[in-house]
Amino acid sequence: MIDIEARIAAIKSRIQQASTKKDESAGEVVLVAVSKKQSIDSIKAACLVGQRHFGENYVQEAVVKIEQLQQKSLIWHFLGPIQSNKARLVAEHFDWVHSIDRLKIAQRLSNNRPASMPPLNVCLQVNIDADPAKSGLAPGQCMELAAVVAELPGLRLRGLMALPVQTSNSEQTRASFRAMRQLFETLRERLPVTSFDSLSMGMSSDMDIAIEEGASMVRVGTAIFGPRSP
Ligand SMILES: *Cc1c(COP(=O)(O)O)cnc(C)c1O
Repeated sequence: MIDIEARIAAIKSRIQQASTKKDESAGEVVLVAVSKKQSIDSIKAACLVGQRHFGENYVQEAVVKIEQLQQKSLIWHFLGPIQSNKARLVAEHFDWVHSIDRLKIAQRLSNNRPASMPPLNVCLQVNIDADPAKSGLAPGQCMELAAVVAELPGLRLRGLMALPVQTSNSEQTRASFRAMRQLFETLRERLPVTSFDSLSMGMSSDMDIAIEEGASMVRVGTAIFGPRSP
């Protein structure tokens, strides 16, 4: 069994180190521990050392975990593509969705958000490198969708998410994150919502660069939990 406590401590020190190189207005960085394809025991081990935010990609798998860990009051982030027939389950169980890229899905999430829960926090997913293999909006489409999503009663528009192309060229990665930050700032100036405060970018391999470029949330899986089960 992997020493999750030591790994989380190491990630926290990477976050701190990278934060010394970022512009201070970006604020504190939230660590989302990506627990997809990881066991409930691994999530419990992370909880024991104070980890509160967890990310999942597969609805059915996630719902089982959320229900079993209900009494721990964790904060659950949905990161994967959403099929419209799964939107209701996502709306009923999660606190955040990072992967909004269509109005139809946003409307379904809003319509299915139970009145007993606070509005669902959402980020728009941006395909910042125009990668044909990835979902997400083109940068030029974001303002229009953001303005509509901001008005949906069951949602709270929080920011943007990106998943840049994985490359060993760190300057290319940095350029993608920098473009995201600029897009985020442009939208923040233009949107009439005060809740637009989150820039979700950076994973195990590139979180340091993402933080230096202004990420407010990083989503880290394998660096905390080890390789995922197939
Ligand atoms: C799986 C996943 C992650 C975590 O990736 P790691 O490389 O394991 O850190 C982060 N974000 C999204 C959207 C993911 O699907």
